[in-house]
Amino acid sequence: MFDTLSDRLTSVLQNLRGRGRLSEADIDATAREIRIALLEADVALPVVRTFIAQIKERAKGAEVSGALNPAQQVVKIVNEELVAILGGETRRLSLAKNPPTVIMLAGLQGSGKTTLAGKLARWLVGQGHTPLLVACDLQRPNAVNQLQVVGERAGVPTYAPEPGNGVGDPVDVARRSIDEARRAQHDVVIVDTAGRLGVDEEMMRQAADIREAVQPDEVLFVVDAMIGQDAVNTAEAFRDGVGFTGVVLTKLDGDARGGAALSVREVTGQPIMFASNGEKLEDFDAFHPDRMASRILG
Ligand code: GDP
Repeated sequence: MFDTLSDRLTSVLQNLRGRGRLSEADIDATAREIRIALLEADVALPVVRTFIAQIKERAKGAEVSGALNPAQQVVKIVNEELVAILGGETRRLSLAKNPPTVIMLAGLQGSGKTTLAGKLARWLVGQGHTPLLVACDLQRPNAVNQLQVVGERAGVPTYAPEPGNGVGDPVDVARRSIDEARRAQHDVVIVDTAGRLGVDEEMMRQAADIREAVQPDEVLFVVDAMIGQDAVNTAEAFRDGVGFTGVVLTKLDGDARGGAALSVREVTGQPIMFASNGEKLEDFDAFHPDRMASRILG
């Protein structure tokens, strides 16, 4: 996803190689090139501005150190600022002192939420947890079934309203799932909520009601990194309508420009916690800002 951006940044930084000293004009010219590369990759403008201002200030103020030549110093600064934009430290899941830990998923339909539920469940099993999936998308025909299929693949049970009992109330299902988790000794509950194709008031209200009812330890906003600038707009809408504690980027294996994904953390103030990069359950991991920055800088 970040191939073009990566190529551009690498070549801008390579142009500095072999220079003895960098003048202010050199730094300004480099900053300008980086700015263009970021904007072309769809990174949100306010994020680009902050990033470039930091690079310029730090590069101009940098002491000439014995260990690094000027070009290496700029590369180091760009790397550190990229890590900062991406959130700095890896943010781990916060687990409840009294299990079950409740993780609620929110996001648009098609964002990869159901797939993510399975991936997260499988990942948690790998960490020694015993998750329970909970189907709270009761509007879309087949959503419950899809979650069950994903759960089976992940080897994790799914809690859903009994068929034939009407559509069921998602808030009620979420609430009852916590009792079920206690009874059957699941230490993590993953609540999948209904998404819509676009930002929708009723969807937001329902998600907010579920949040209020079950007081999750984490609310993860799931966003398709392929949707470009809309990722940032959607994130802002969910932040204001439901609120979330972390972001999951999906479809990082796609060939879109990806810069919007790089902006979500800075724009919403919430950390990117997981990344999904394929359709298979194992195409998933915790998000590490430092590793992502290294990948982008080649
Ligand atoms: P939901 O509507 O948010 O529950 O989304 P789904 O989980 O049903 O995913 C929508 C589509 O995106 C499905 O075809 C998934 O296979 C696909 N998908 C989900 N995550 C990824 C990913 O990380 N990479 C790719 N390439 N496809 C994904």
